[in-house]
Amino acid sequence: SRRVRDLARSTPFDVLLGFFAHEYPERRARPGVLDLTFGNPHDPAPAEYVEALRASAVPRDEHWFGYKVSEPAARAAAAESLRDVVDLPFEPDDVHLTTGGFTALALALKLVCDPGDEVVYSVPPWFAYEVIVREAGLVPVKVPVSPETFDLDLGAIADAITPRTRVVLVNTPNNPTGRVYPLDELRRLATLLDEASVRNRRRVFVVSDEPYHRIVYDGTEFHSPAEVYPWTLLAYSYGKTLLAPGQRIGYLAVPPTLPGREGLRPAIEALQIAIGYAFPNAVLQHALPLLERIPFDVALYQRKRDLMVAGLRDIGYDLHSPEGTFYLFPRSPDPDDRAFEALLADHDVLVLGGKYFETPGRFRISLTASMETLEASLPRFAAAFGEVG
Ligand code: PLP
Repeated sequence: SRRVRDLARSTPFDVLLGFFAHEYPERRARPGVLDLTFGNPHDPAPAEYVEALRASAVPRDEHWFGYKVSEPAARAAAAESLRDVVDLPFEPDDVHLTTGGFTALALALKLVCDPGDEVVYSVPPWFAYEVIVREAGLVPVKVPVSPETFDLDLGAIADAITPRTRVVLVNTPNNPTGRVYPLDELRRLATLLDEASVRNRRRVFVVSDEPYHRIVYDGTEFHSPAEVYPWTLLAYSYGKTLLAPGQRIGYLAVPPTLPGREGLRPAIEALQIAIGYAFPNAVLQHALPLLERIPFDVALYQRKRDLMVAGLRDIGYDLHSPEGTFYLFPRSPDPDDRAFEALLADHDVLVLGGKYFETPGRFRISLTASMETLEASLPRFAAAFGEVG
C-alpha cells in the first residue's frame, strides 16, 4: 500500500533500513570488528536472568500458557518498582503490560490521538519515532533541542504547538544525547502545555518515553514528566536494564493523578486486544516479579562511560558526558558523519552516524559493548581521528 511505502521511505527509517540491508551485515562479518552500534547485549545473559525464565516456563496450573492480558502478579511487581523511581502512588491496575517500549508508545498514541493529529518531539530523536507516529496515522512535528546543553527548547516547543497538537513526546534520559531533563525544565513544559491546552480547548498529552529511567550516573536525579503533568502516559521497556531487548516486555503506565484514569483502563485493554500484538508472552509475564529483582549494574556502565569520555576527549573528540542512558553522542571530526562512520568501519569500529538521528556532524556509540571491546576501540578512534586531521 502507499501507506507502507511511505513508512519505509520516511527519514531516518529509510537510511536505517539501507544500513541493515547493506553496510551492517558486511561490516559486522569482518573478523575482529568492534560493534558499538546498537544497544544490544554483548555479554552472555546473567545466570539469574536465565534461571528466572526457566522457572517461569514450568507450568503451575492449566492456564499457565493460556491467553494473557496483563497478569496481576506482573502488574503488581511493575507498579511497586515504578513507585521507587517515579514518586507517585501507582497501583497495579495503572500498569498495562506491553511487548516492549515500541508497543507502549504505539498504544499511548493510538489511545489519545485522532487521525491527523500532530505529535511534537525533539531532534535528535530515537530513530523509530517517525515511523511509530506515522504508522498510527499521525503527523510528526520536530523541534530542535538546545544545541549546547541538549535541553528541551521550550520556546520551540511552544511555537510548534497548533490546535492539531495532541501529544508532546518526551524522552528522558535521552537517546542519543544522554541528557536527563531537570525537574524545573519539566515544570516549565507542564505550564506551557497547560496554557496551550486551555488556548486550544483540547488537552495536550505528554507521552513520556523512559526506558532508561534507572540508567543515570553521578547521582543525577531522574524525574518523569508524570510527576508534574498528570496528562502523561508513561512508556517503559525492560529491554534496557535487563540487556535483553529481544525479550519483548514493557508497559504503558497511567499516573494515578490523571483525571478519570479508571475510565481509561477498559479502553486501553480493548485497544491492546484490537492491536493483536500488544501483550507480552505468558512466560515473560510470569517471570516479571523475578526479573524485577535483577539489578542493573549502573556502576559498571558509569565506568564504561568514564573510560570512553576521557579516552575520546584525550584524542581530541568533542563530546558531552551523558548523565544517563548507555550512549555517547560525540561530534564527528569530519563534518560528513557518513564518511566518518565509513572511515571508522575501515578501522573495524562500527558506530551509527548522525544521519540516523537527523543530526548531521555527530555519531552515536553504544556502551553495551564489553569493557575490553571499548578499551580496544580507543586506539582505532585515535587512528581515524588522525586521518581526518
Ligand atoms: N525508546 C527509546 C528512546 C529507545 O531507545 C528504545 C530502544 O532502543 C525504545 C523506546 C524501545 O524499546 P524496546 O525495543 O525495548 O521496545
